Amino acid sequence: ATRSIEAGLLFYSEEMNQRAKEHMRIEGELRQALLNGELLLYYQPKVSLRSGRIVGAEALLRWRHPVRGLVSPGVFIPVAEETGLILDLGSWVLEEACRQIREWQDANLIMPPIAVNLSARQFDSKLPQRIAAVLERYSVQPEQINLEITESLLVRGADAVIAIMNELRAMGMGLALDDFGTGYSSLAYLKKFPISTLKIDRSFVIGLPHEENDCAIARAIVTMAQQLRQEIVAEGVETAEQMNFLRELGCDQLQGYLFSQPVPAADFASMLRDGKRL
Ligand code: C2E
Ligand code: CA
Ligand code: CA
Ligand code: CA
Repeated sequence: ATRSIEAGLLFYSEEMNQRAKEHMRIEGELRQALLNGELLLYYQPKVSLRSGRIVGAEALLRWRHPVRGLVSPGVFIPVAEETGLILDLGSWVLEEACRQIREWQDANLIMPPIAVNLSARQFDSKLPQRIAAVLERYSVQPEQINLEITESLLVRGADAVIAIMNELRAMGMGLALDDFGTGYSSLAYLKKFPISTLKIDRSFVIGLPHEENDCAIARAIVTMAQQLRQEIVAEGVETAEQMNFLRELGCDQLQGYLFSQPVPAADFASMLRDGKRL
């Protein structure tokens, strides 16, 4: 028995070692990717369930790796979060989104707000100033930018976080709570935070309209958001059935493969220009 435990430990530490090596490799390559211009943003439209029109988009990070091809953020964001590299990545994302918005506005496109994902690590007292500086550099209005944050930030719950959020809202930016329902924030807690939009997590959308529990959760989230006067976006909507259910609930917007996958900037611009509708 001892031998097999030892063998198990050996195997375990070997596996840990592999993971650590893999992380270090990704971190090094990612640092280089930032310098080499291998990162880019894709855009996934958000559509209004009332008008069927595009009313926003989420900017999603992609890595065009010279050997591995297009790498999804699910692989490298966790590594970046762990190593702190997410701070540099996050700055790049904000800058690139503003540069792109400027370019589109110069081409006379009518731009809906573009949402950028923020890591909890980016959330410090200097954040509003840093964002203001980027907005100014590209002459982009704060109303053009939405920030998506996750519940982990709320759990940290300090008044300092609320103060930063208030500052961002006062500047004119929308604040969306991402992946709502997957974290720990209680409903009573939620009203303390100046959140303008709730995004219902895809895990609750998948089962609509057949899974009773998912229907009940979606209904509860929409009802609560309406009471708090927050906009509601459902993410990961893939079927017309899901869309119809969400529309009847009174959900405001949907984002998902039913309308469009995340696409390169030029493709998103074409959708806007052509007035693509649901
Ligand atoms: P997220 O913020 O929840 O983004 C939504 C994810 O769901 C995206 O995955 C999107 O491609 C995917 N998705 C959208 N509609 C559908 C659908 O109908 N079906 C399915 N199966 N999936 C759908 P993606 O682009 O791989 O991004 C994964 C996660 O990586 C994001 O989840 C976000 O947490 C993180 N991420 C992406 N870009 C950034 C960034 O610039 N900064 C930070 N901090 N995180 C980012
Ligand atoms: Ca998001
Ligand atoms: Ca999300
Ligand atoms: Ca999600």
